[in-house]
Amino acid sequence: MSLSRRDMIKTGGVGIIGLAAVGGSVAHAAKPKHGASAVLPPIPQADGKTLFTADEALARLKEGNRRFVADQPVQADISSKRRMAIAQGQAPFAAIVSCSDSRVGPEQLFGAGLGELFIVRTAGNYVDTAGMGSLEFGVASLGAPLIVVLGHERCGAVKAAAAVVKENAKLPGSLGPMVEPIIPAVLLAKSEHTEGGDLVEEAGHANVKRVVENLRATRSPVIGDSIQSGKVKVVGAYYDLDTGTVDFFDV
Ligand SMILES: [Zn+2]
Repeated sequence: MSLSRRDMIKTGGVGIIGLAAVGGSVAHAAKPKHGASAVLPPIPQADGKTLFTADEALARLKEGNRRFVADQPVQADISSKRRMAIAQGQAPFAAIVSCSDSRVGPEQLFGAGLGELFIVRTAGNYVDTAGMGSLEFGVASLGAPLIVVLGHERCGAVKAAAAVVKENAKLPGSLGPMVEPIIPAVLLAKSEHTEGGDLVEEAGHANVKRVVENLRATRSPVIGDSIQSGKVKVVGAYYDLDTGTVDFFDV
């Protein structure tokens, strides 16, 4: 599936500057403590696809997270008007592979509204067959130019995988098979582990890097060419539960 049509109609994109501050009419205590919330410019699109490049998509995510961290959250568009506008079709500007953890909802961390992010969520942010098919759909059919693999601090799935490696823990039900794909990352982190380091955090980072590398090397007939040619970018990221910051790496 070619993304060339999107590229042909691309007109240069729109930057993320020009934030329209709102909140002047919100004069009561609901106003955020450290400053006004903001509405970001609409995502430019044509012919049912986003016009954002991968870099523009990344900049938008960073700006949304910067505002989240600063208690100046983006006023994400979840209005009925927006709902009606996208009821017949979606044009997400990024695909996110995230953990199921209730504290790491991508729309919240990045200040995204309805129809903006295409998200695969599994405990441990691993891409299985269903996840890969989902990404193929989000990228090739819906036109998302960016895939972000988002791990996070103190991930329960990574902790469980580490317990299997360190203590030969037996996990009940489907939990064992679920964390199996994370075990190579734990083994890698263990082999490079230094005294005083935190194995779970090291394994969490290694897991993100591994998923990013696997996606970059994918032979998917649907999105492999787009990724390898650089039309679609895959980047890793790690969320700090304490500060709210998403640190992007492998950009
Ligand atoms: Zn997690």
